[in-house]
Amino acid sequence: MDPELIKDCVHCGFCLPACPTYTLWGEEMDSPRGRIHLMKQHVEGTPLTPEMAGHFDACLGCMACVTACPSGVKYDVLIESARAEVERVHERPPADRAFRALVFSLFPYPRRLRALRLPLRLAERITPRLRPLLERLDPRLAAMAELAPPVARPIWLPPRIAARGRRRAVVGMLTGCVQAEFFPRVNAATARVLAMEGCDVVIPPGQGCCGALSVHSGRAEEAARFARRTIETFERAGVDTVIVNAAGCGSSTKEYAELLSADPAWAGRAGALRFLDFAEFLAELGPAAERHPLPMTVAYHDACHLAHAQGIRAQPRALLGAVPGLELREVPDAAMCCGSAGTYNLFQPEAARELGDRKAEQVLTVGADLLVSANPGCTMQIASAARRHGEHVQVAHTAEVLDASLRALSPKTLTRPPKPSTPRSDPSLEPAPIPASGPALDPASGPGPGRGDAGTGTVGGERAR
Ligand code: SF4
Ligand code: SF4
Repeated sequence: MDPELIKDCVHCGFCLPACPTYTLWGEEMDSPRGRIHLMKQHVEGTPLTPEMAGHFDACLGCMACVTACPSGVKYDVLIESARAEVERVHERPPADRAFRALVFSLFPYPRRLRALRLPLRLAERITPRLRPLLERLDPRLAAMAELAPPVARPIWLPPRIAARGRRRAVVGMLTGCVQAEFFPRVNAATARVLAMEGCDVVIPPGQGCCGALSVHSGRAEEAARFARRTIETFERAGVDTVIVNAAGCGSSTKEYAELLSADPAWAGRAGALRFLDFAEFLAELGPAAERHPLPMTVAYHDACHLAHAQGIRAQPRALLGAVPGLELREVPDAAMCCGSAGTYNLFQPEAARELGDRKAEQVLTVGADLLVSANPGCTMQIASAARRHGEHVQVAHTAEVLDASLRALSPKTLTRPPKPSTPRSDPSLEPAPIPASGPALDPASGPGPGRGDAGTGTVGGERAR
């Protein structure tokens, strides 16, 4: 914890009303100002007590305080180093350690998540009956079972997809770990929209976690390992612009150079790659494909790691608002976290549930056909909160809405759950060879090309998800 960054806080308290945990409990030590005070005490010599660790653990890392702070306090940097310190010196109770070990040995590993598919499919049927038992055993296990998304059929993504029409850019696409395994339709929609907007999309197979879960939990070394692997993957793929469609992954990939700053060579390699959020990139590229009408009402939810951590609020709204017939509605108190916050709803289920209930209530007042967000974790959290109260909230990612508009699909494709017969290989994502001397890129029309043509355009044997 950098004492110079701690000194930037002038204790004005402007951040307090923006902080979800302060809003819930009204406790100074559960506010940004209070947590910064605890950090100050610790750097001045007070040992890190379990109480201090509890206040740091209770922080969602939503970064609403960073947006609210007029003094530019880098709370994001401070809380990450505080969490790393907690991991380094704080001895957690055995049950806590075991649960954390379980989460961090599963979530960042796509193959292990894949192996969970069958148990999750069974759990989908028996969770309501198991819930009281899990609740008694450990509320965190109950939260894990409740939040597990329905098992979706995998959709195979080819290693590269050629641009439709005039090629305007070559981009890599991060498939993620949780996103790839549980929300394959979001990745498929992202790839299709990018291709329809004139991008060659390079999707290296065998991608792993970007490190977001680890970095947001103080596991800096593990995060650095994942970051190096992601950088290598996209360097090998020959792209220098990588599109990210999950808010948490977007904010952590943008911080790779900082995460790897102890090693200038790696920091330089990280700096040579440009990680951009899906909506951010498309807003910069400008529209090319025709938008077809989608007569429906949409409530847009700001994922904290998109709005607060990356400052991306206008771009998704502009993209959605440009769809003919689509009426965009704002959710009251939009800047407040829904309680999902990466793994927060697993580690702090009570607080997460309370925040989820509040958010679901606000979303339901909007009365929209669909709730859209750039983070499936958020939409799952809100949908699950609504379910607890006997309500239904239909959710989608920004990419899925644009995909439906670009393909002239009916709004019902977004408001109806997917059919179980969803094909494993989506015909609209069939790989198309990228010609060695493809159509000229138009530098005036977008952020520019990737580093190259990304290979021969043949489809590899390994399957990217
Ligand atoms: S990151 Fe969010 S929960 Fe944590 S102190 Fe800031 S506003 Fe509060
Ligand atoms: S973090 Fe910023 S807004 Fe909050 S008390 Fe400190 S200076 Fe004020």
